[in-house]
This record gives sequence, C-alpha cells and structure tokens, in this order.
Amino acid sequence: MLDQNMALRKVFHSRMPVNALPIRMNHNDLVNQAWAARDHAYAPYSNFQVGAALLAADGRVFLGCNVENISYGLTNCAERVAIGAAVAAGVRKFTSVVVVADTGVPISPCGACRQVLAEFGIPVVIMANRSESLEMSLSDLLPRASSGILDRPE
Ligand SMILES: [Zn+2]
Repeated sequence: MLDQNMALRKVFHSRMPVNALPIRMNHNDLVNQAWAARDHAYAPYSNFQVGAALLAADGRVFLGCNVENISYGLTNCAERVAIGAAVAAGVRKFTSVVVVADTGVPISPCGACRQVLAEFGIPVVIMANRSESLEMSLSDLLPRASSGILDRPE
C-alpha cells in the first residue's frame, strides 16, 4: 500500500543521495543530528527515546527529544520540543523535520505532532530507525489539516 504512494520515498541510509534536500544540510547530517538529540531524551517511564532535528529555512537546525512527565499526559514529543526551541529563537519557517527512534520500522509522528507540524507548514517529514528512513509530505501524513477549522455557522 505504501509503495503505491508516489509521495513516499523509501531511502536506505547506505544509498542516500547527498543532495536529498535543497539546502546545505544533507539528509544524513540531519538524521545524525536527530540521533544525537535522542541521546538526551528524558524517558524514565517508557524508556522509549525519540530524537528530532528540525531544519529551518535559513539553514539552522533545532533539536528535540521527548521529555516525559510522571503524569504521562504532559509528555512532550521530540518534534514539538524542537519546534518550541525554534520558535523561542524567533524562527518560524522550516524546510523539513527528521524524527528517529529504535523501532522496527521507521517511527512516524503521533497525531498531535502532525497537527503542530501543520501549524508551521513543515512540508517534508523524514522518519527513520537504525537501518532505513522514509520521507513523506506532511500533506500525506495529515491531509486537510486545518480545512474548515475556523469556519463556524453564522
Ligand atoms: Zn508526537
């Protein structure tokens, strides 16, 4: 099913094109930075560590890791932590985001994160585990993210 999706590009790390992204930062660099951020994950409850690397339009990279909370519900995902760091630095335009974890298949953002990625119009989402990565458009991960959301009956 996924193979039929033209927007989905499956990339094995060993064959990754150097210029996969239209910026100075290449795909492997961004994936590696996400893995480094993952090392800082605060995940004492699930022991499930996630890292994210968010590439801004100006070439800067903002990192995130998951930050759990004893209440569970207050846990912040790596992608949203990276976005928060970028916004706090005054950055709101992004090219892509990488999310990585030690999973059997490349990890994909949760529904809440997809909505937050949509808030900032981040067009490319790269999902990776230790052996492969998948690149998808946000519009395929979350179609019609905000269609009609502010429409209200008169
Ligand atoms: Zn999430």
